[in-house]
Amino acid sequence: MPKLANLDYLGDFHSHPQFGNSKGTAQLSETDKQSIKETKIELVIAINTSKHRLKWSVSKGELFGSLCDYNIRIAGFYKSKNGEIKQLDIICPYAIGFDSALNCKK
Ligand SMILES: [Zn+2]
Repeated sequence: MPKLANLDYLGDFHSHPQFGNSKGTAQLSETDKQSIKETKIELVIAINTSKHRLKWSVSKGELFGSLCDYNIRIAGFYKSKNGEIKQLDIICPYAIGFDSALNCKK
């Protein structure tokens, strides 16, 4: 990564999409907990369909809101050198109050 851009590798991200009636969550699975690299950040993005659009907001450190017909929830985690995993607060002032309804095309 440093050879491609002037950025540091902080960690990874992945999504938990809805599967049928089973909603995706923004929490780590047991497999996720084992696969996080020590001293790195892992973002988990839950993607679910919804008939109700939500303005972007933060609750319990998770950022959530709607993008057109999908509800998105983002949580961040950090794994220390001793393997302890802590949930991080997602801070994104730009997204707070954003309403995607005006930008959706049908
Ligand atoms: Zn996962």
